[in-house]
Amino acid sequence: MLDMTRLSRILDVDVEARAVTCEAGVSLRQLSAALEPLGMALPVYPGTGFVTVGGAIANDVHGKEQHVAGTFGHHVEWVDLVTANGQLQRVSSAQHPAFFRATVGGLGLTGIIVAARLRVPALVGTSLEVREYRTRDLEATAHMLETHAATVPSMVAWVDLMTRSAGRGVVELAQPVPGPLEAAPPRREAMLPDVFPDFAINRWSMSAFNALYFNRIPRLGRARVLHRRRALFPLDALGEWHRAYGRRGLFQFQCCMPTAVAVPVFERIRSELRRAAIGSTLAVMKWVGKTGPGYLSFTRPGLSLALDFPGTAEAESLIVRLYDIVLEENGTVYLAKDACLKAEQYRAMFAEARSFANVLGELDPEHRLRSDMSRRLAVHSA
Ligand SMILES: Cc1cc2nc3c(=O)[nH]c(=O)nc-3n(C[C@H](O)[C@H](O)[C@H](O)COP(=O)(O)OP(=O)(O)OC[C@H]3O[C@@H](n4cnc5c(N)ncnc54)[C@H](O)[C@@H]3O)c2cc1C
Repeated sequence: MLDMTRLSRILDVDVEARAVTCEAGVSLRQLSAALEPLGMALPVYPGTGFVTVGGAIANDVHGKEQHVAGTFGHHVEWVDLVTANGQLQRVSSAQHPAFFRATVGGLGLTGIIVAARLRVPALVGTSLEVREYRTRDLEATAHMLETHAATVPSMVAWVDLMTRSAGRGVVELAQPVPGPLEAAPPRREAMLPDVFPDFAINRWSMSAFNALYFNRIPRLGRARVLHRRRALFPLDALGEWHRAYGRRGLFQFQCCMPTAVAVPVFERIRSELRRAAIGSTLAVMKWVGKTGPGYLSFTRPGLSLALDFPGTAEAESLIVRLYDIVLEENGTVYLAKDACLKAEQYRAMFAEARSFANVLGELDPEHRLRSDMSRRLAVHSA
């Protein structure tokens, strides 16, 4: 295991070309704070700013702007990679298309990313107008996201899979507010104490949370203006939030489904949750517009659904069943959030698993770079 956080220098910012070169341990929060005063933004904002540039490339991360901006990998010009034989190699999509496609979303298995050059967009303004609307069910949520995909640059929906209602939700639509560039106001960051028992998150507490979350939005919706980092990294206000799950921790699940089957598949997932009597704390839906550039990128045009579960054996078996549904309907699973996928499911789900294994065979024939995930999914022998 390597700690990359000491490689944390921003090496060059080219304002005219709108490109930045930095070391792989630079966090997205650090990078966005450095770019904003120069009138530039990050190309992609995942849900937390603690992600490093290396981690963002290795999982080809996406954000609420996926439908227009694509994934992080779409904005990488090149990466400097230390491969398993210890050599430093510059990899770009033009010069080494196969190595590049294996490195973006490649879970760190092609080598250690030490630096990267990224193309970054101009910043319209540091604030976002965030509008939130209630929706009555999964179909209405998907429809609202689809309707706004062409005009709203950043959007996401929260859905309630716990109640008997048909998956009510809250859709959040965000537009940049043109104006002067302002520093982010200081933020009070709380740290969740390590005092929660395993049962703190259960079906009753989840239902109560969902009711509060839904009812905080007035019937006619609401609009607020927020600093973009506050709006785009909402989870960072509460440090160590995972402690709420107690010692057993949590499992995450995220899939991406083709548009035509997405809502029926999410309905099936909802029924499976009810049948197993297992609740999901957070259920987040996103509209996905672009296929990621990596062999193992999980995004395809359609809809993505992300769920969090308390870390129990029952939740683990449920997730494996959900993966079968995803597979049946030609969807993909996000490996950044996975702890349960089986090797045979991986091979059947990722059409380019073989191409990925071929590149690994070329770069690292002795399989020096391995992880628990690479062993579980048998990626080298796919
Ligand atoms: C609260 C929260 C919200 C999230 N929201 C989103 C979201 O909205 N969208 C999304 O796409 N993801 C999201 N994620 C997932 C997260 O973006 C990814 O897991 C990301 O890869 C984490 O990056 P990291 O720098 O923390 O790397 P780690 O978690 O340390 O590593 C992640 C992977 O990247 C590899 N890696 C890391 N650094 C390097 C390097 N320098 N060279 C080679 N390989 C490397 C590791 O080997 C590992 O396979 C979220 C995660 C959390 C905890």
